[in-house]
Amino acid sequence: MHVPLQYIDGVRRAGAGEVLAIAEPATGAVIATGTAATATDVDAAVVAAVAAFPGWSTRTPGERSVAMYRWADLLAERAGELAAVESRGAGKPIKLATEFDVPGTIDNVRFFACAARNLDGRASAEYSGEHTSSIRREPVGVVGSIAPWNYPLQMAGWKVLPAVAAGNTIVLKPSELTPFTSLIFAETATAAGIPAGVINIVTGTGPEAGAALVAHPDVAMVSFTGSTGVGKQVAATAAGSVKRVHLELGGKAPFVVFDDADIEAAARGAVAGALINGGQDCTAATRAYVQRSRFGQFVARVAELMDGVTIGPVDDPHTDLGSLISRAHRDRVAAMVDRAVADGAKVVRGGRIPPAFPQGAYYEPTLIVDAAQDSAIVQQEVFGPVLVCLPFDTDDEAIALANDTPYGLAASAWSTSVFRTARAAREIKAGCVWLNDHIPIVSEMPHGGYKASGFGKDMSAYSFDEYTNIKHVMHELTGAPAKSWHAIVMG
Ligand code: NAD
Repeated sequence: MHVPLQYIDGVRRAGAGEVLAIAEPATGAVIATGTAATATDVDAAVVAAVAAFPGWSTRTPGERSVAMYRWADLLAERAGELAAVESRGAGKPIKLATEFDVPGTIDNVRFFACAARNLDGRASAEYSGEHTSSIRREPVGVVGSIAPWNYPLQMAGWKVLPAVAAGNTIVLKPSELTPFTSLIFAETATAAGIPAGVINIVTGTGPEAGAALVAHPDVAMVSFTGSTGVGKQVAATAAGSVKRVHLELGGKAPFVVFDDADIEAAARGAVAGALINGGQDCTAATRAYVQRSRFGQFVARVAELMDGVTIGPVDDPHTDLGSLISRAHRDRVAAMVDRAVADGAKVVRGGRIPPAFPQGAYYEPTLIVDAAQDSAIVQQEVFGPVLVCLPFDTDDEAIALANDTPYGLAASAWSTSVFRTARAAREIKAGCVWLNDHIPIVSEMPHGGYKASGFGKDMSAYSFDEYTNIKHVMHELTGAPAKSWHAIVMG
């Protein structure tokens, strides 16, 4: 089936670029073909967003809110279809798409429909005695957003919702591997009454469509979610035209288990946190540091729980672990595990393509021990169903190890002592620290990184700080020609 992959000014259309064959990761079969966006298509989308900006940005917050609530209702009506498309397109189990991706996004739309009406400045007062000050929050203009393939619908929501709730218009480039739910998301917005041109989708490759969007002179801000390597290129290009940049980059979340933790709860949390979405989650638990006296018990229980995980077709409601996004990515994950073994690590579970699923891009739940802290498997993103466990002796050591990677997106600490969890929350350098859990997200949660994981916040009311300019308006109050400060200049 050949389909138009662009959504520009409210119309689905073909791109001017090369033919993309979009495959189903779990089988490798082509779902659809379509043509990619080029710089010309990106320009058409930006022109549409520029034209839509005056109308959308001057709608009252209440009007924007009403349209967004309607949008959420329309998405809820199409929830089953969205989950099926997301599951098939991204290789994720239907259970995850149905219970996590789709309801999470609908809740996000409702959150921002409500938050749109709470966009006020913090101060309005007579600070100088001769003036009154007020603070205006204004949309920045046209936002260019670039999203990854791991949670296509949720990432579209995280990028689009705070931007349009605040009155901006947007051009979103989803990953060329997973465009379908982003297209439905945008079309549903138009059906709900959000004007054509407010939300545009350009499906194309990073180096062509992504780079053109970042460099476009009429794009006021770039919001990027993806790898740290590409994020650096995006920031460098955006610097050329002094664009505001918001970067949500990679992660390598530590999972710290102290000796007084509930080991059963921690083991379950580690398996769920490491395997969610096949481990293709920037906050996935990747490095479990376990106090030495409990290390053997924890590793044995994690291995046992991994044995109970069902690998299967993504449309089977009993499947726990689906496919990775592509064979190329699976081979990258496998190569990282093989390298860890060559470097001296031991595979306790997994470490191979499941024999029953040679098709598609499956990889077994994998548990690794005896890896060195400075090895690639501990320091670099694997983005697959791989958990490395390492022992520690003292609390000081645990915190130091948790902080010992370039990343700082998310972390968790497990203990029954409030003093230990409070210390971990204070001293681990990450944008999110879960205590006695790992992964749950809510729309109210500001999500964003420290260090090489980027800067800025998705979700939550804090995200409005990215998508608005703050303007100080100072109004002379006295009407008198002689002002006290004039004497500094005029004597
Ligand atoms: P990626 O960096 O390869 O690609 C991300 C997006 O950038 C894609 O749409 C891609 O087409 C585009 N792109 C590639 N080159 C570009 C260029 N030169 N200019 C502009 N755009 C370009 O990442 P990915 O493989 O799609 O996704 C996985 C990565 O995303 C992981 O590193 C993961 O940690 C990260 N991620 C981070 C978060 C977060 O919130 N911090 C969330 C999800 C994923």
